[in-house]
Amino acid sequence: MYKKINEDIAAKLEKIVGKGNLTQDSEKMIDYGHDEFSLTDIAQMPEMVIKPKKTEEVAEIIRLANNEMIPVTPRGGATGLCGGCVPSFGGIVLSLENMNKILEIDLDNQMAVAEAGVTLMDFYSAVEQAGLFFPPHPGEESAMIGGVIATNAGGSRAVKYGVIRNYVRGLEVVLPSGTIIHLGGKLMKSSTGYNLLNLMIGSEGTLGIITKATIQLMPPAQAARSLIIPYDDLDNAIETVPLLIKRKILPVAVEFVELEVIHITEEFLKKEWPCSQGSTHLLIIVDASSEEELDRLSEMVAEICMEKGALDVYVADSPEKQKNVLDIRSKIYEAIKAYTIEILDIVVPRAEISKHVRKVHETSQKYGIWLPTFGHAADGNVHTHIMKARLENGKIIPVPEEEWKEKIDKVRQELYRDSKTRSGAISGEHGIGIVKKPFLSYTLEEEEIQLMKGIKHLFDPNHILNPNKIFD
Ligand SMILES: Cc1cc2nc3c(=O)[nH]c(=O)nc-3n(C[C@H](O)[C@H](O)[C@H](O)COP(=O)(O)OP(=O)(O)OC[C@H]3O[C@@H](n4cnc5c(N)ncnc54)[C@H](O)[C@@H]3O)c2cc1C
Repeated sequence: MYKKINEDIAAKLEKIVGKGNLTQDSEKMIDYGHDEFSLTDIAQMPEMVIKPKKTEEVAEIIRLANNEMIPVTPRGGATGLCGGCVPSFGGIVLSLENMNKILEIDLDNQMAVAEAGVTLMDFYSAVEQAGLFFPPHPGEESAMIGGVIATNAGGSRAVKYGVIRNYVRGLEVVLPSGTIIHLGGKLMKSSTGYNLLNLMIGSEGTLGIITKATIQLMPPAQAARSLIIPYDDLDNAIETVPLLIKRKILPVAVEFVELEVIHITEEFLKKEWPCSQGSTHLLIIVDASSEEELDRLSEMVAEICMEKGALDVYVADSPEKQKNVLDIRSKIYEAIKAYTIEILDIVVPRAEISKHVRKVHETSQKYGIWLPTFGHAADGNVHTHIMKARLENGKIIPVPEEEWKEKIDKVRQELYRDSKTRSGAISGEHGIGIVKKPFLSYTLEEEEIQLMKGIKHLFDPNHILNPNKIFD
């Protein structure tokens, strides 16, 4: 169905972006054939990587690709975990990395305007320098603004502050036809027709290429604190969360993590987690407008946790202690990456988390595969890691390839089926990409999938934009 990039097309593309901003050199393109999903069988080499510098160049590239039937895959930081930016049919990988300017931080409107290739790291730093705060915090700061919008990323602060969608006020988008459209703007609200802005957020690069975004900022909280709370029992730990909410406490983040994975990360980083009691820990972050209010909040949180059977409450009350705790939590991924096959992203109603995690433990026992599980407890968003290993007495024991390959699909199916029985969804924040496509119907009704396919066809009748993602 798709055409290959021939010399004539390559020359036209070079004319659009200039010689230094594209490549067909296979060595230079190798990194552009995959994202952070570990299994290489979904990876695919592009025929060309293009790095435009301006929206008009993006539009010209897409127009040409659409006329010539060349598939185009938009790519941000490639930190995605489900193959979203893999060029499944070759063609062009359109990397936004050279569109990396923060164009404006508007203090009057408390909004930033940034190009799609700005990394989260650079964005946080610029926003902080301006004395403002951008609340969403997906765990990997090399992700780019366009990518986090295209996946509607979440992160640990979503409990109190919501996900990326809640902060995107305007978008500049290049449609598959090559037309540039502007959705929303510096508006706090709009009830003007269908909300195409929200349709674009989370569309995983299948409906348009995001080139620029207007993003809502906030004044920062005056004070924040992390509490680490050990429990002997998973259920008690998780059941603390609805109790906090019932008592009208809204933490910034509530993460749950099992101690065995913390020990492996301590060893990996040569750092020490402040507490080694119990088996499941909650990491609760609270913020407030004054130190006094923060003290009061922390005390209330501690009381509720103890009421629910916590063994103790450790307070990381200095910036250094907080940094240490957050570093260890965010580096768990690195510590176990060598043995990780896939990170699931199931979301269930908050009250169902402990039952779902029990199911994970049963599944781990049944198949003899280590399934370390942690995540955003107050969002119901559970990251179960499917490993090519067993855990025996705290030691990682590799499982032979033929064994884990035979078991991985059964593990996925059991856990996705469990999410369905709990009215959950197969992805809370990472998106569907390629990897979760076969399981879409575990969450969406057939009618919804058909409507989505209709929308895709309306935006992209030639199916040139990021084909093979979300659905066939
Ligand atoms: C260690 C680690 C921790 C993570 N923690 C979190 C977390 O806490 N929360 C969370 O939500 N995610 C998390 N992720 C997943 C990942 O960081 C997010 O999915 C992120 O939003 C991807 O952004 P990216 O720029 O890397 O996008 P990419 O991986 O490059 O692309 C992702 C998708 O977006 C599309 N896309 C990219 N740029 C554009 C654009 N400009 N226009 C249109 N489509 C585009 C791509 O085609 C693809 O479909 C984590 C990943 C890692 C490795």
